[in-house]
Amino acid sequence: MGKVYKKVEAHIKERIDYDTYCDICGCELYDDGTQTEVNMEAKIGDSYPDCDCRVLHMVDICGGCFIEKIKPLIETTFNIKFQVMDNDERFSYDRLYRQQEEAKDNPCVNIGESRGKSEI
Ligand SMILES: [Zn+2]
Repeated sequence: MGKVYKKVEAHIKERIDYDTYCDICGCELYDDGTQTEVNMEAKIGDSYPDCDCRVLHMVDICGGCFIEKIKPLIETTFNIKFQVMDNDERFSYDRLYRQQEEAKDNPCVNIGESRGKSEI
């Protein structure tokens, strides 16, 4: 293991071991007893089966800062609206998304849709 790799690994371990605080208001995340999750990250670059070469960009944001600051800022800056789903909608969305992904991996699932077409 190279010196640089050891240094990077130590830095990452330090980040994981410490409590996480909101980068905006400084409150401790995951310490309020709620199950709130705010995931603001992007993985930019290429990923291959044997190498994920993407660069991770992330910030730690609490639920309050997301709702009160980040969401309105993004919506007004870019004139877009976040999709908001309640539990029923979210579970339906997740289930249908999973079915679509499984259908992509397993062409047999689409047999009903391709009836009448012959592919050789
Ligand atoms: Zn905050």
